[in-house]
Amino acid sequence: MSSNQDPCAQPTLLHPDQAIEQLLAQVEATQDTEMVTLTQAIDRVLAEDLSSSIDLPPFDNSSMDGYAFRFADLTASQDKTTFTLVGSSFAGHPFSGKVLPNSCIRIMTGAPIPPGFDTVQMQEKTQANQNQISIEHPHRLGANVRCRGEELLAGTKVLHRGVIIRAAEMGVLATIGISQVRVTRKLKVAFFSTGDELRPVGSELAPGQIYDSNRYSIQGLLSKSNVEWIDLGVIADNKEAIRGAFKEAASQADMVLTSGGVSVGDADFTKQILSEEGKITFWKLAIKPGKPFAFGKIDNAIFCGLPGNPVSSMVTFYKLVLPILKKMQGLKPVTPLFCQAKLLTDIRKHPGRVEYQRGILSRNEAGELEVAITGGQGSGMLTSMSLANCFVILDQFQGDTSKGVQVTVEPFNNVLC
Ligand code: AMP
Ligand code: MG
Repeated sequence: MSSNQDPCAQPTLLHPDQAIEQLLAQVEATQDTEMVTLTQAIDRVLAEDLSSSIDLPPFDNSSMDGYAFRFADLTASQDKTTFTLVGSSFAGHPFSGKVLPNSCIRIMTGAPIPPGFDTVQMQEKTQANQNQISIEHPHRLGANVRCRGEELLAGTKVLHRGVIIRAAEMGVLATIGISQVRVTRKLKVAFFSTGDELRPVGSELAPGQIYDSNRYSIQGLLSKSNVEWIDLGVIADNKEAIRGAFKEAASQADMVLTSGGVSVGDADFTKQILSEEGKITFWKLAIKPGKPFAFGKIDNAIFCGLPGNPVSSMVTFYKLVLPILKKMQGLKPVTPLFCQAKLLTDIRKHPGRVEYQRGILSRNEAGELEVAITGGQGSGMLTSMSLANCFVILDQFQGDTSKGVQVTVEPFNNVLC
């Protein structure tokens, strides 16, 4: 159904995909870098292209425990040939003797193949009788040999700037002998919650008060986003307190992140203060949960204002703030992975906004992907996030969806898992 035909559609709301594009166009990757040791490099963003100075593997070596010999010495008319054992090559202890015709050496996985030998047969296909080794013919010259440079040659680019250094990259860097790498500086994000009703955990609630949960879910999200975070607490719905908090946050961080006060409520002073203190746009996004979102600059810091509803703040962080942070960190954009799964529950939906319903994705006995909604989907029901392992994404102009149909699912990434 197109937006023109649908009376419930809200065409003035900006589609989240367009919003992401527009937001990303307004932020730059940090140019600040630092050298860190390999051990400190985990989860950091590589700030330089790295080439290998050595071939990989650095020498011909065996991929099996067995015997190394010359393929040309195999007797063509037989299934097996007997060789004379003249020595051994162990990992870290190469064979230093002479390679003679019809001779073989005992060799272990990873041990160098001496020049002259070219083929290895695995131990299970050999028989030893003192120094006479009967070897079943392997199918090809070079069997069980990992050749020098077969993975890559010296001078080849191994890692590109903008990749995140995960466990595999740590290993790759070590394999090519690199002990220090240049990474982008860790970003600093200062955040606070706004709202007179909010109390910190550990205190008593008076009537009408609730605990400030966003600061903790945001802490969790920031911890998994590889940034340094500064927690500025709860700020009351009071103009001067909010002004002071913005100024303080902007003076010490690359990004100021807040929750609450960006919708149309009377106590939402954030808008007014932000307009006075920075260059901020208030967005109405075609996304549920999470319609209101604010973005702009305060002094030199990027500002993102999340809605106060707990699920909305997590979803808008995930969909909008995370891509912004990744770009600022210098990370290459990574396409989110989607899949299709059979819906196990009916879903009620009004056309008008893209919905990120919280789902539980699993595989049934037949091996098919299935997804169920985590019960109530109110934007304040944070347990819906806690129970979920994915979002079920419903298109902007789509209405109710019946169980049994295939729906688009986005499994939670490492920041939400
Ligand atoms: P707001 O965006 O400030 O209008 O808040 C929307 C809803 O989210 C209200 O019900 C608030 O009480 C609630 N809320 C706002 N901030 C928080 C927070 N930090 N933790 C939990 N709930 C919040
Ligand atoms: Mg509020």
